[in-house]
Amino acid sequence: MSVKLTFLGTGASFGVPMLGCKCRVCRSNNPRNKRTRTSALISFDGHNILIDASPDFRCQALINNVDSLDAVLFTHSHADHTFGIDDLRAFSLREPITCYGDESTVEAIRRRFDYIFSPTPHLGSRPKLRLHSIKNNFRVSGLEFVPLPIRHGLDCITAYMFEGIAYITDASEIPEVTLQRIKSVDVLVLNALRFEPHAMHLGLWQAVDLAKTVGAERTYLVHLGHDLDYDEVSSMLPDGVQLAYDGLQIEV
Ligand SMILES: [Zn+2]
Ligand SMILES: [Zn+2]
Ligand SMILES: [Zn+2]
Repeated sequence: MSVKLTFLGTGASFGVPMLGCKCRVCRSNNPRNKRTRTSALISFDGHNILIDASPDFRCQALINNVDSLDAVLFTHSHADHTFGIDDLRAFSLREPITCYGDESTVEAIRRRFDYIFSPTPHLGSRPKLRLHSIKNNFRVSGLEFVPLPIRHGLDCITAYMFEGIAYITDASEIPEVTLQRIKSVDVLVLNALRFEPHAMHLGLWQAVDLAKTVGAERTYLVHLGHDLDYDEVSSMLPDGVQLAYDGLQIEV
């Protein structure tokens, strides 16, 4: 089976350009320096599975011709990964969409978007979503997913491994148990915020070191901030490691 991964968005929480910022990268005309908030789409055999519903989801779906969704996998509940949730409405008119996440993510989503999950009948339209908390391997439309713990500052959040791909965003550290599990992947997706390390996110060189440790054939960096100029950083990266950009598609 061939699985396609589309990078719907590759930017950090502010997006690039960042509102109000006049830095070189924010003013750049290079389309690869235009980054919506990080999210990806897994496509296979007519199925579409979304990883995170970013605040830019509606535009990302339009640009990438997404016309249906089977399910959503949430990595964690931060605003830049969940605030597109209301736009799931259009894809849940007929059938509810199941949204997967670890227990704390599911609980935070239920609290934060109480209007969606409230049993009180109301006349307005709201997305029809089913929240499903996951701990162990699970299958969606026949594809097996392995949830893996990673550190994001003080929080423990979820990475997903499937079909030879490990998808990791918002990591500040990868626990040994997860490192051991992802050593066999062909494709690693990993976050890198800026040149300097950050309390909540890997810095560029930490991410490059981790990519070497994992040893995947191809590593794509996401959740990129406005420090990172696409052309400049691309020329510095070792073979097999590259910056992802919005709209990039890969097949495994
Ligand atoms: Zn984020
Ligand atoms: Zn900037
Ligand atoms: Zn986050």
